[in-house]
Amino acid sequence: MSNPPAPLSTWARNVSPSPTLAVDAKAKALQAAGEDVCGFAAGEPDFDTPEHIKEACIAALRGGKTKYAPTPGIEPLRQAIADRYLADYGLTAAPSQVIVSPGGKYSCYLGVLATCSPGDEVIIPAPFWVSYPEMVKLAGATPKFVLADDTTGFRLTPAMVEAAITPRTKLLILNSPSNPTGAVYTRPELEAIVAVALKHNLYILSDEMYEHLVYDDAKATCIATFSKEVEARTITVAGFSKTYAMTGWRIGTTLAPAPIAKAMAELQSQMSSNVTTFAQYGALAALKEKEKTQVALKAMLVAFDRRRKFLHAELNTIPGITCLLAEGAFYLFPNISSFGLTDLDFCNRLLDTEKVAAVPGSAFGAEGYLRLSYATSDEVIRKGVTRLTRFCASLKK
Ligand SMILES: *Cc1c(COP(=O)(O)O)cnc(C)c1O
Repeated sequence: MSNPPAPLSTWARNVSPSPTLAVDAKAKALQAAGEDVCGFAAGEPDFDTPEHIKEACIAALRGGKTKYAPTPGIEPLRQAIADRYLADYGLTAAPSQVIVSPGGKYSCYLGVLATCSPGDEVIIPAPFWVSYPEMVKLAGATPKFVLADDTTGFRLTPAMVEAAITPRTKLLILNSPSNPTGAVYTRPELEAIVAVALKHNLYILSDEMYEHLVYDDAKATCIATFSKEVEARTITVAGFSKTYAMTGWRIGTTLAPAPIAKAMAELQSQMSSNVTTFAQYGALAALKEKEKTQVALKAMLVAFDRRRKFLHAELNTIPGITCLLAEGAFYLFPNISSFGLTDLDFCNRLLDTEKVAAVPGSAFGAEGYLRLSYATSDEVIRKGVTRLTRFCASLKK
């Protein structure tokens, strides 16, 4: 007689796979089967990594940078990251406060692990980036969602944060510019929210992954610059993936107060060790060869901005859809609640009938919306909008 194997852990049974990656995988499978799919689901730039960054990585690989490196990152890269916070925001930090991790996703997870214990609560503004709730749960902590819909531009007010705080609240996650909405908080708005966090002695995880992808007059805000007290409680996550079209490189960065940086490095030393050594030299070139990097970034921003305006204007001509003009990242988050379908049904039918891939808002904790990434070609956007228009018209019949 043979018994079935014992059940897997609670971690394995409770984790939800990334829904954005799931939609993207379904779209890619259709594409592989020969279908002409318009993909708005992927959360990554459609550009290739700039050439000088690749060259630096190749040179490092040829030069034998193939061994283990220090867990928190190679020294010149940590120094360059500290230098760039000074140059970008006037923030003085020691290289020892910088941790280089395998992707910004992992940086966020380490930040949660370093600050949260089982029983703690973490405030997550919704619509949220899909990984935050899962990371919090994997740390044994409890996510507390606070929804800000399109009536407030997807931005929380201090009163909404205050209302969600309990004696167990330990951490507030903020993400401006936002994935999935593209919303960018102003500095005064963030100062008011952070004041609430400070009053209740919360840690803040500020995910500034899209800090360089802003349009019109919008400016990203580095929360750690607010004051020494705020800096002592703020974990700033950023990275190379979105800004420099380096998603596959897996390099994220954290700037944190010394005790948190130390804890994150120790956790990382047991869980993954250093980021691929030669890849770090590519990241170093992105920061050191500033002019070339700026040229590449500007070109991407011009393309993103053109597509953003086009897609936004087109969406608002479709009867039944309303869409705010996001000022950051590379997403729009149109409201499709007027069609009387769940957003999941809407997305599945849109993919099945028109071969257009979009992610339902409910994946981000906001039912009734779609996330459309415009980090895709102008041609795909034009064609996709035509199909979406036809699909919406068919629903209204
Ligand atoms: C993409 C993304 C990240 C992490 O990116 P990595 O590819 O892991 O570097 C973190 N936060 C947000 C909001 C993102 O969109």
